Amino acid sequence: MIRSALESEIQFLPGVGPKRAALLGKELDIHTVDDLLHLYPFRHIDRSTVVPIAEIVPDSANIQILAEVVSQNAQPKKLSVIVRDGSGEMELVFFKGIKYTSERLVPGSRFTFFGKPVSFNGRINMVHPEIDPATPGEGQKGVMTGVYPSTERLKNAGITGKVMNKLMAAALRLALPEIAETLPQYVLEENGLVSLQFAIRNIHFPKDAEALRKAQFRLKFEELFLLQLSLVKQKYIRSHGSQGFVMNKVGEAFHKCYDALPYELTGAQKRVIKEIRDDMMSGHQMNRLLQGDVGSGKTMVAVLTALIAVGNGFQACIMAPTEVLARQHFANISKYLAPTGVKAAILTGSSRTAERREAHQGLEDGSIGIIVGTHALIEDTVVFKNLGLAVIDEQHRFGVDQRSKLWSKTGIGTPPHVLVMTATPIPRTLAMTYYGDLDTSIIDEMPPGRKPIQTLLITEKQRQRLWRFIREQIAHGRQAFIVYPLIFESEKLDYQNLEQGYEKVVEAFPFPPYKVAIVHGQQANDVKAFNMDAFAAGRANILVSTTVIEVGVDVPNASVMVIESAERFGLSQLHQLRGRVGRGSDESFCILVKGDKVSKESKERLELLCNTENGFDLAEADMRMRGPGDLEGTQQSGMPINLHIASLARDGQILMTARTYAERVLKFDPGLELPVNRQLRIELSKGKYDIKDYSKIS
Ligand code: ADP
Ligand code: MG
Repeated sequence: MIRSALESEIQFLPGVGPKRAALLGKELDIHTVDDLLHLYPFRHIDRSTVVPIAEIVPDSANIQILAEVVSQNAQPKKLSVIVRDGSGEMELVFFKGIKYTSERLVPGSRFTFFGKPVSFNGRINMVHPEIDPATPGEGQKGVMTGVYPSTERLKNAGITGKVMNKLMAAALRLALPEIAETLPQYVLEENGLVSLQFAIRNIHFPKDAEALRKAQFRLKFEELFLLQLSLVKQKYIRSHGSQGFVMNKVGEAFHKCYDALPYELTGAQKRVIKEIRDDMMSGHQMNRLLQGDVGSGKTMVAVLTALIAVGNGFQACIMAPTEVLARQHFANISKYLAPTGVKAAILTGSSRTAERREAHQGLEDGSIGIIVGTHALIEDTVVFKNLGLAVIDEQHRFGVDQRSKLWSKTGIGTPPHVLVMTATPIPRTLAMTYYGDLDTSIIDEMPPGRKPIQTLLITEKQRQRLWRFIREQIAHGRQAFIVYPLIFESEKLDYQNLEQGYEKVVEAFPFPPYKVAIVHGQQANDVKAFNMDAFAAGRANILVSTTVIEVGVDVPNASVMVIESAERFGLSQLHQLRGRVGRGSDESFCILVKGDKVSKESKERLELLCNTENGFDLAEADMRMRGPGDLEGTQQSGMPINLHIASLARDGQILMTARTYAERVLKFDPGLELPVNRQLRIELSKGKYDIKDYSKIS
């Protein structure tokens, strides 16, 4: 069989060989010439520009200087070389290749040096610059070159940036003509995209800035378009292909609950309930994500949704991620259900045997209409008579396996309708990807009458003032949360840290008259529940805790949220914590205590929180500041998909365009069966764009 140049093993590329090939495979997952060509530079350098030494800004990006060697000082482990140009002098430092380099850099000779200028002992130097002949940009005038991801091992094996450029050039010479177009002609034309060959050539060796821009746009668009095509296609398949229980009544229970509500639903709540109802009537399985900031009133939506299921003769379950939350949900939901006569029950890991037996019985015989619980709900021993709906609160805590277990609970092969609720606002572009195959509803309106939460940033110096302030609030009958982060690697140290904090608080708020409760993850469930209850019922003035209170806990009387070492938390986590107060009608405060040695970026993030109330705005800003891979607090550890070149943070505009375009393509040809779309079908079938964790929420 004749192997094409593109598919040939990387070891046969001139300059590689078996050793380097093994390393490239191991370090960068590059096995073929094709793989190599698809390793894109993360930035480009313009080697035609030379910076005068006097104008060098330390710690800037890599630069090129053109200079003459003045002197050398070679020691066994270090070579220092002084160079100068017309404007000044600087030092170059080498720790490796000392003999070779010192022989090459003869005083009086001239070279171009390329590297990152750093400031050391008040002077600028460059460590291990690349050395080239004196003529700047010789043989490559006006040509930009790429800078590629690398590792220490690759560099040690001599695969430097320059070597990478050479390998790329060789690969292009050999295999570029073989690169086949991946997008149909009409897609290129309608979106103003350059060909794949042009893009690959110019991503590695851009002819000029404009060519680079076109190449990047083409490659990013392709990546985001195929990803969205895959997501939207899955969504189509599910909404048109899968059977779902038809629930076309609203039902009496719904109306009874609705009519007894002590408040009017917000416009957003009403709209969302309508969206959910439409899904439940459609005959297809609902797979809907409900996003709503903390306090936006998702519980009510969950209850009314569950009542629709009950009104159509089905059972509903509401799953919470923690015991504490399940109990709180149950207490709230029971209140709402009182006027309806629908029987609800709770089932968690710490349910007592009798309680458990009763719940199992009621679920099996159908007397329980709504069950609230934790993971205990999906155990094999739990059998439903006719489960029709699952509401999952804070989806990120549930794994795929657990979700699929729920599927089987209906007993008859038809999956239950699924509503996933999250209080973690994520930017639109991220939502489109993480949940691109789900329908999404957003509660973007807060219940009326809420006072804004004042967010303040303070330091240790203001500690006494803070204590005084909390005493005042307590004197007014209010309560305070004080949250400590989990800081250290070791859990033991973490809890020591928390304990110390607790002791300080107890010292400042002695009993009597003050009562301080403490809750953390290492307590037994009943101890945790006891302390939580003491605070929720107002028996304790202060709750000291780790982030176990993060999600959902509702104590309307609490007016102060103190967050210690706030810089240690992610922004969205801080926002979640802040949402624990401001639930009553009193003015509330979130006080961020920052450590003394906090970086400028951390401080900026905390200030952003002080100035931004809306969770979605915050998430957008956070993403821009940190990039999406690090959206801590969304808990989506590990991106569900590896993007090669596009960035969800920076390429939002391209993503939107790609999404709209993908929808258009699929509307016209849902199965991608037309001959013009053959290539698209092939690309998707490669599986690169399957999102593993999120493709099935239930
Ligand atoms: P979420 O779960 O979205 O964080 P909750 O459902 O716990 O929010 O609601 C927060 C608080 O707002 C609760 O005390 C709830 O009773 C109240 N609430 C919900 N909807 C409304 C509304 N339409 N008008 C007034 N208060 C509401
Ligand atoms: Mg909630």
